[in-house]
Amino acid sequence: MPSTKYVFVTGGVTSSLGKGIISASLATLLQSRGYSVTIQKLDPYINIDPGTLNPYEHGECYVTNDGAETDLDLGHYERFLNRPTSQANNVTTGRVYQSVIDKERQGAYLGKTVQVIPHITDEIKNRIMVLGNTGEFEIVITEIGGTVGDIEALPYIEAVRQLRWELGENALVIHLTLIPHLAATGELKTKPTQHSVQKLQESGVQPDVLVCRSEHHITDEIRRKLAQFCNVKKEAVIESIDAETIYAVPILMRNQNLDEVVLKRLDLPIEDNLDLVNWKDFLYKLRYPKYEVEIGLIGKYVELHDSYKSIVEAFIHAGAANEAKVNIRWIHSENLNEESAAKYLEDLDGVLVAPGFGERGFDGKLDAIKYARTQKIPFLGICLGMQAAVIEFARNVLGFQDANSTEMNPQTEHPVIALMEDQKSVKDMGGTMRLGACDCELKEDSIAFKTYKRKKISERHRHRYEFNNKFLKEFEGKGLMATGTNPETNLVEIVELLDHPWFVGVQFHPEYKSTVANPHPLFVNFVAAAIQNSQQEN
Ligand code: GLN
Repeated sequence: MPSTKYVFVTGGVTSSLGKGIISASLATLLQSRGYSVTIQKLDPYINIDPGTLNPYEHGECYVTNDGAETDLDLGHYERFLNRPTSQANNVTTGRVYQSVIDKERQGAYLGKTVQVIPHITDEIKNRIMVLGNTGEFEIVITEIGGTVGDIEALPYIEAVRQLRWELGENALVIHLTLIPHLAATGELKTKPTQHSVQKLQESGVQPDVLVCRSEHHITDEIRRKLAQFCNVKKEAVIESIDAETIYAVPILMRNQNLDEVVLKRLDLPIEDNLDLVNWKDFLYKLRYPKYEVEIGLIGKYVELHDSYKSIVEAFIHAGAANEAKVNIRWIHSENLNEESAAKYLEDLDGVLVAPGFGERGFDGKLDAIKYARTQKIPFLGICLGMQAAVIEFARNVLGFQDANSTEMNPQTEHPVIALMEDQKSVKDMGGTMRLGACDCELKEDSIAFKTYKRKKISERHRHRYEFNNKFLKEFEGKGLMATGTNPETNLVEIVELLDHPWFVGVQFHPEYKSTVANPHPLFVNFVAAAIQNSQQEN
């Protein structure tokens, strides 16, 4: 295999321009041409990982098979490429400094003064090269978080400068920028892009490709101007206009030849083998749905949709698989109580209670579940949503008034959800939950088995509390069945209600594994149940 090629993606002018989506879109095009590609995200914050960050700060925390708590962009990488990522795909400043400081304590620097350059930059470079060194990938795309000019991004930009110099033709830099539109004069302005490229150049980095986010088409004249002032070839000035869906971006990039510009510059062959048939078929189903359903998403961070990114995307995949448009009704669990539940949920085709932590808004989740259970609305509970379903059933069907999770009430006499044995001695918050892929065995004759169509599955976890098996007999006696269990530990991973058309609670996070090529079966089946429910109503 030829040596790995490296693509660096930087951002300028503002944050939130969608570097993750551009990286994933380019990777999709290259993969559709037969190249093996992976994407990595470098995050310049000092937290070791986003696992301890509040969703208000950082959106969803995405979990990989190997149990890494990572940036939500890794979710996009997996959804686009249908290929798992790992801890190596997400690097933070915290992690970089931690390993440099650990090495310093071990005496690895032989008495030298430890400095940002070369020690921190070397550590960053190693972490970039580590994916290429596996021999698995022909192209590694590395997305640098933040915006050019940020103080904390400087060591990363310096690492890119050095690698670009060392790798020569085998590395390339894409700079994503914004071309603002001045409504008053009706003009698109290039100056912020010129300045942000100058900022990069001050650090010794010359971009090869400019991807320009814009609300309006950029003219030939603007391309010419940007090429001239930023030292970039005119065909390497790519427009990225606002898209109706993130999944249309690979096609928009293809229409502008981004993949060919990159391959040519990296001196890789451009064959006539681009295969986007399945991708386009998926887009067609998204654009022309036959059905429409509305599903309530109940959580406590609903004002920030990024907190539930993977769930939203899983609904898009599952919707397309069912040729349905899934509309999400965002419902704040703090607004729910027994009386208001009907008002919020009455006309929904399905109810999803989201993962979460802590007491705030928990009672509202129980009220929503009671409503979905008694009104026979298709229900999916994920992680805390599953735990809440167990608690609701214990209180209202088994009659254990004070049933709870010990997370909410450590003193309860009916701890139907309790701390896992191996969590009892845990003191640190970061990276200490039950994390990553675990096996689960399904009971035949369950919705789960019908959904997955096999007995053994593997799903990703992120929690500390579990179903308390002491109460299993009582639950099953009244019709809440454990239909999926961990074969080694016997932990209950899935519960289902017998007397209900579709009521499933899962301790794991199916949303992390849903991709365009492989929509998650639980979401597909849940949306199918919602469609059926909506047709019965009509
Ligand atoms: N707070 C619950 C636990 O730690 C659920 C976590 C979650 O929903 N991810 O077990």
